[in-house]
Amino acid sequence: MKKKSHVWKKIFICLYLSMIAICSSYICHWPGKMTAAVHIRRQWQEEGAGGYVREALEEAECFPVRRDNKGKEHWYYEDAYGAGRTYGGNRTHEGIDIMASNDQPGYFVVQSMTDGVIENIGWLELGGYRIGIRGDSGLYYYYAHLDSYAPDLKKGDRVRAGQPLGYMGDTGYGQEGTRGKFAVHLHFGIYYNRKEKTLSQQEESVNPYYLLQYLEHGMIP
Ligand SMILES: [Zn+2]
Repeated sequence: MKKKSHVWKKIFICLYLSMIAICSSYICHWPGKMTAAVHIRRQWQEEGAGGYVREALEEAECFPVRRDNKGKEHWYYEDAYGAGRTYGGNRTHEGIDIMASNDQPGYFVVQSMTDGVIENIGWLELGGYRIGIRGDSGLYYYYAHLDSYAPDLKKGDRVRAGQPLGYMGDTGYGQEGTRGKFAVHLHFGIYYNRKEKTLSQQEESVNPYYLLQYLEHGMIP
């Protein structure tokens, strides 16, 4: 009799532990996406891009910078969207800067967050070596200050989420080839077309911070 109750106790503990495991996985994943959607929608609605949230969450698959596979270095970022910038006249910061802990150009791999088509590739005075990818949602994903590009990428090519685009660098703020004017980082931006009643289309930026947080953690911490 005593032995039997011991077995039942074991079964009960196993069931209890599996229930906890199942529940925590459920609590971590599905609600993570829902909470992210709420945060992003709140932010993007103010900017007039609330209608893009669902598609952005569908097509955004990877954080735009790969982790260091040696595990030595890391990247980090904060929400400095909208902060002041002075190069090229007073303006606001239309994206998030993802910084490299070792400040070394050519170290971290930049990868496409989404599937999409390369719409722009090449030098910009502000963005340095940049690449712009149009996602299937119509959102435009902008990666700037690259040290170099992955081989054989050209305008009109289709890329997949997770495909390498190049290496993180410190190019820009001058004529083609200018380097070292600021710390090594990826400037990452998202733009959408605001359709005005006049039928003219205007490209506007939205804050990518919560989308980045979601891709990094699988939830908004
Ligand atoms: Zn920036």
